[in-house]
Amino acid sequence: MTIKKKRIAVIGSGFSSMSAAAFLSKKGHEVRVFEKNDQPGGRARMFEASGFKFDMGPSWYWMPDVFEAFFNKFGKSASDYYDLKRLDPSYKVFFDNEELHVPASISELTQLFESMEKGSGAKLQKFLKNAAYKYEVGINRLVYKPGLSITEYLDAEVLSGLFKFQLFKSFRKYIRKSFKDERILKLLEFPILFLGAKPDDTPALYSLMNYADLKLGTWYPMGGMHEISKSMESLAMEQGATFQYNNPVNLIEVGNRKAKFVHTAKGVWETDFIVGGADYHHIEQNLLSEESRNYNDSYWAKRTMAPSCLLYFLGVDGEMSNLEHHNLFFDEEFDLHAEEIYKTKEWPSAPLFYVSYTSKTDPSVAPKGKSNLFILIPISTGLTETQELQEKYFNLVMDRLEVRTGNSIRNNIIYRKDYATSNFSNDYNSYKGNAYGLANTLKQTAFLKPSLNNNKIKNVFYTGQLTVPGPGVPPAIISGEVVSREVLKEINKK
Ligand SMILES: Cc1cc2nc3c(=O)[nH]c(=O)nc-3n(C[C@H](O)[C@H](O)[C@H](O)COP(=O)(O)OP(=O)(O)OC[C@H]3O[C@@H](n4cnc5c(N)ncnc54)[C@H](O)[C@@H]3O)c2cc1C
Repeated sequence: MTIKKKRIAVIGSGFSSMSAAAFLSKKGHEVRVFEKNDQPGGRARMFEASGFKFDMGPSWYWMPDVFEAFFNKFGKSASDYYDLKRLDPSYKVFFDNEELHVPASISELTQLFESMEKGSGAKLQKFLKNAAYKYEVGINRLVYKPGLSITEYLDAEVLSGLFKFQLFKSFRKYIRKSFKDERILKLLEFPILFLGAKPDDTPALYSLMNYADLKLGTWYPMGGMHEISKSMESLAMEQGATFQYNNPVNLIEVGNRKAKFVHTAKGVWETDFIVGGADYHHIEQNLLSEESRNYNDSYWAKRTMAPSCLLYFLGVDGEMSNLEHHNLFFDEEFDLHAEEIYKTKEWPSAPLFYVSYTSKTDPSVAPKGKSNLFILIPISTGLTETQELQEKYFNLVMDRLEVRTGNSIRNNIIYRKDYATSNFSNDYNSYKGNAYGLANTLKQTAFLKPSLNNNKIKNVFYTGQLTVPGPGVPPAIISGEVVSREVLKEINKK
């Protein structure tokens, strides 16, 4: 069969864009990826300084099956590109007065639960069985739907399983039915942070994330998360896609209700289709004229955004004791922090934070005898940082980190870089400086998310963390595949 070769412009080179570019070029289309920054990966960029190699965005490799399924669709495996290591313990949690290592093995995890709350081991098995069902149906079937209409979700299996999805039950209430121990509850609520919403506003469906966490495990690609970015760029190029860096799209030119050209910093390219993988809000509000947009400013103002964050990249002299690869500081009140992120939208009074110590696993990311630390404090979107505030939160975190681990960090810093909301806005054209896109609340799930299609201009599509299925690296990869199917459908109509 001869294919109708089309010119397709992809805006941005995040995971969703690269996934879409790979699928579309595999079908023989001429795909050009235009990226504002100087490397692939979007928020999963990296930089090197003073001998350290820092991942700038994602650090948790969850749902390895999704990555593998992606590579398999091109006759490849993740192992053709990078070396994955399963972390054990998966991560460490610092509570108020104690520390907990979350083991990779389910039998050890069951014992751990039992030691915290009598009878909770058996409840964990039941909880995971239910979460496994949600994961199987949710990840293997629901998230691959384009979310254009409610009718997509009306198939027999999905309908018969609807009550098991617990879409209308809050995650917070759901886990409290089975568990009472505060540490267990915090452990189960933590992946909801990934989804960027409060556990009371998140459907119990998302206990599928606990299955991803506790059963499928936490992995790390040696060399860093940016290895995934590079591998997806290579894969897309192997299919024929081309990449242009330092070349932002500044305008989508529309004529007769069709996008005709992309105007970039380096020139104008005639195009048959556009896949927008940059932040949805930016594409609509800044690259398209008002009459060509799906949504207006007031629509966006009403969305619940996932958080932004304060980041600190540190190169430290000496190795760290008492830290694992991933470390969660849950030594302050979760609810108060969540309230300040989502409801009052103010600077947190006593934030939880996360520390990634990648050089514990990977010698290539720090010079010998030195440590690579990445510190993340989730904050509300829309806040503007100042140097003074960044310093304040740095010291607040350091006070807790140094005391709890016994390491002297501040006196041994070789390299430090701070990163915050205005960096997200400037570097990625991110709406309100969001880090993770749109929160996965019930009102922003599936067909209730911003649409993958532009309803006014039939050859413009969107992908990435502000549309279906949502934030996170695996969802972004899936989003690229889903949008590519929609583009192909449109091509084949003609
Ligand atoms: C600090 C941080 C930690 C995270 N941790 C995790 C984690 O541990 N695990 C996980 O799974 N997920 C994590 N995430 C979320 C995950 O990284 C994102 O959901 C995912 O990478 C988003 O991919 P995307 O395809 O939507 O595009 P993005 O990564 O947002 O890429 C969009 C690209 O578009 C480009 N662009 C913008 N405007 C233009 C323009 N006009 N022209 C051309 N290009 C443009 C941007 O420069 C960017 O490269 C984290 C995110 C952050 C920020």
